[in-house]
Amino acid sequence: MILTDTHTHLYSEEFDQDRHQVIQKAIDAGVSRFFIPSIDSSYTSKMYDLESQFPENIFLMMGLHPTYVKENYLDELAHVEAELEKRKFYAIGEIGIDLFWDKTFLKQQQHAFKQQIQLAKKYNLGINIHCRDAFDETFEVLESEKDEKLFGIFHCFTGNLEQANQAISLGMKLGIGGVSTFKNGKIDQFLNQIDLQHIVLETDSPYLAPVPFRGKRNESSYTLLVAQKLAEIYNVSVEEIAKITTENSKAVFGI
Ligand SMILES: [Zn+2]
Repeated sequence: MILTDTHTHLYSEEFDQDRHQVIQKAIDAGVSRFFIPSIDSSYTSKMYDLESQFPENIFLMMGLHPTYVKENYLDELAHVEAELEKRKFYAIGEIGIDLFWDKTFLKQQQHAFKQQIQLAKKYNLGINIHCRDAFDETFEVLESEKDEKLFGIFHCFTGNLEQANQAISLGMKLGIGGVSTFKNGKIDQFLNQIDLQHIVLETDSPYLAPVPFRGKRNESSYTLLVAQKLAEIYNVSVEEIAKITTENSKAVFGI
């Protein structure tokens, strides 16, 4: 069984004490493919270190996270572009709009999002979308960029059924993680109305740990708990969930 964690911040400081054990534990649990979203330029060298330590398992994305879009965002976008010119990445992410923390830079967030979607198209890559308290604003940008070259993953999807279908119509798969195990997470109530071909698994570790670890540090081995929850929701085996969602992730990342 091969499980794929399509969104994990394994370079995070929270893993500085035990990163190797955390990765080995995940591999032992069947999670052997890790897709790593970028945040901003301060993490780039840490991502490369991680990749050189686990070249078979680690696959990097490049992008500027919406929460990190500030006064200097054009410099950060230039960094993204320069790295893309240098070497191979598997997606542009995480990119999008976040109005939960701060609305000051909404215009800049929209601009950065659009620019990075266009970069993804230039390099024939998928995108990895971060959207928090900003469904309308995110969909507005996506609709304006909708064409056959637009595809990717709506990471940590927490919307309703209508929003799920809209995301799918825009070429996105839904990244499902710990929230599907929360009592008030809501998505577990309609997920079985969405075909499994549109679903990929993720943890977003170290954040959003699934039940029974909710509130604790999340880690990639818990992808298995998400797979078990989906097996329950779809009434199929965990092996079937692993097989389909890993295939779906291959379609997005091209590997
Ligand atoms: Zn993330």
